[in-house]
Amino acid sequence: MSYDHIDVPSDGAPIEVENGALSVPEDPIVPILYGDGIGKEVAPVAESVIGKAAEATGRDIRWMRVYAGESAREIYDANLPDETLDAFREFRIGIKGPLTTPVGAGFRSLNVAIRQSLDLYANVRPTYYINGVPSPVKRPEQMDMVVFRENTEDVYSGIEWEPGSEGSEQVRDFIEEEMGYDDILHEGDIGIGIKPMSEFASKRLVREAIDYALEKDRDTVTLVHKGNIMKYTEGAFRDWGYEVANEEYGDEVITEDTLWEERDGELPEDAVVVNDRIADNMLQQLLINTEHYDVLAMPNLNGDYLSDSSGAQIGGLGIAPGANFGDNRCIAEPVHGSAPKYAGQDKVNPTAIILSGRLMLEYMGWDDAADLVYQAVEKTIEEGQVTFDLYRQIEGGEKLSTSEFGEAVVDNIEAVNE
Ligand code: NAP
Repeated sequence: MSYDHIDVPSDGAPIEVENGALSVPEDPIVPILYGDGIGKEVAPVAESVIGKAAEATGRDIRWMRVYAGESAREIYDANLPDETLDAFREFRIGIKGPLTTPVGAGFRSLNVAIRQSLDLYANVRPTYYINGVPSPVKRPEQMDMVVFRENTEDVYSGIEWEPGSEGSEQVRDFIEEEMGYDDILHEGDIGIGIKPMSEFASKRLVREAIDYALEKDRDTVTLVHKGNIMKYTEGAFRDWGYEVANEEYGDEVITEDTLWEERDGELPEDAVVVNDRIADNMLQQLLINTEHYDVLAMPNLNGDYLSDSSGAQIGGLGIAPGANFGDNRCIAEPVHGSAPKYAGQDKVNPTAIILSGRLMLEYMGWDDAADLVYQAVEKTIEEGQVTFDLYRQIEGGEKLSTSEFGEAVVDNIEAVNE
């Protein structure tokens, strides 16, 4: 494919799919989208750290800049050019910095548009404690879990109508006159959104979470939902999740409520237990019974709330990584946004996007490079070399800028690789 404004490196090779699996060359072309606000500062740091880890393990990533948000408006006069989506499609993996979504400005989230256009259906957010990171809870080391958040539907489907618009009035009429809910909606302007949740999307997300738990030797998968109130959306998510667990995995997976009793508490070796929790209870469970939770699977909005709050327990958004997975596709991106108030100050923590890059390396099958990244980040933080967000919570230590922290991690890749 040819591109108008994207410089495709001439000396690298694309990642391809062979026999249903990724085939990764030693010099892959990897798209990188810096993003808005602090993205422009943290993404180049991830580029240098991830590139260094690849080099230290005998490979060579050929980075390729792609554009969305502010950078795309400057080049293409568009927020999300087709070229950017085409490049992510063609090259299959990539790293993405955060993109700004103005609240209530009639501007659809570019992040959501990218995930939906590429069918990146699982937003995966590992939440684990890194030695040396200050935490507001007493035993942060008890948290070691991975959130699988559905990415393509729920309230983020983008089907909503502005208060006072023709669309919202038409939907109101339909709800009241056709569907018979004539005494629920208040008079006057009303905004209306639709929360679709399908069997297809719910089941493939839960399948992804269970496959992950089996592959990584995790013990439990907890379905997190609000099915007590939203019975036909969140309740259906839970029911479909149990269907997947009960019907597709044989003895490898058991469900807490049924098979557990039938088996007198005996677990088959290496079995994963699937259970469920209501979302509001889950937020307190994560604070009180942190160590009981392992892999979590949930609809989109629950996943958004829960991953930010659990991220805070292990040191905040500055260190919380994520990635979006589809079928043989992955775009790594931090949990945090573009934090406009800190933009241009070379100040914020690039750890979240660096550790997101680690997830991308694991997806590529480069576990040795991924381990180097983790060890170098941990060593840097343990040495007390931290950015302002961690520095303000610890005694002693050295406050580094975004770029200085990146240089320290690159140096430590060399140190841990010796
Ligand atoms: P945010 O950008 O994540 O920032 C919220 C707060 O988190 C910051 O004020 C800061 O806390 C802390 N923080 C975030 N990133 C940090 C980092 N790298 N290092 C240190 N601290 C960090 O959330 P927001 O202010 O709600 O959203 C801003 C914009 O980003 C919005 O337009 C939103 O739509 C967008 N957004 C994009 C994505 C995405 O691209 N995937 C995700 C979320 C939000 P303190 O103030 O306590 O220092």
